[in-house]
Amino acid sequence: MARETQESKRKRVVEVLDRLERAMPDVRIELDYRTPMELLVAVILSAQCTDKRVNMVTPALFQRFPDARAYAQARVEEVEPFIQSCGLYRSKAKNIIAAAQALVKEHGGEVPRSRAALEKLPGVGRKTAGVVCIHLGGDDAFPVDTHVKRLAYRLGFSRHEDPDKVEEDMQALLPPERWAKGHQLLVWHGRRTCFARAPECERCGVADLCPKKGVTPRPADG
Ligand code: SF4
Repeated sequence: MARETQESKRKRVVEVLDRLERAMPDVRIELDYRTPMELLVAVILSAQCTDKRVNMVTPALFQRFPDARAYAQARVEEVEPFIQSCGLYRSKAKNIIAAAQALVKEHGGEVPRSRAALEKLPGVGRKTAGVVCIHLGGDDAFPVDTHVKRLAYRLGFSRHEDPDKVEEDMQALLPPERWAKGHQLLVWHGRRTCFARAPECERCGVADLCPKKGVTPRPADG
């Protein structure tokens, strides 16, 4: 099969996102938050945990710790009980407190909008920083989580395993103004149709644009 040109791939990714956007006009982050700090904490908690589970624990957590200063003064044992059901809760509690302390010390208790500054916070990796940025109107980013990585591969937009390289591939195909929503659309399509183990290709609205339609998932996709 002839190798697809970058130009044709560009047209295909735009068509895929246009169709997904028409099918899911209400796409948005599924984590509940009211402030930048609540967003940061929710995104940290969502690592290896469902958004639904995070949304169950955050109301009580956010009430007890209303801002960065409150977390910064907390002991790990005070935070842990609120997030115990989230998985990796010990390291998450430690990271949230350390991140809050860094925010108080270096950013006046505010969450920065720069991805580079966010990535310097304890427990905040590139994906978390990107997700926070795009929802706070900060730096442009196309954060790559497990769904984006899987869909970028299946749709033939990136062959890479490394999320940073997948992000570079997606950014090369799209203008920055399409990155944030592009990320969300792929996440939603991955959660609703293009499941890791059993993608529902027969009801997928972009199946005619997908080179992996009906193909067995890679073991790594589980
Ligand atoms: S056709 Fe199947 S593999 Fe391709 S994007 Fe749709 S659900 Fe995923």
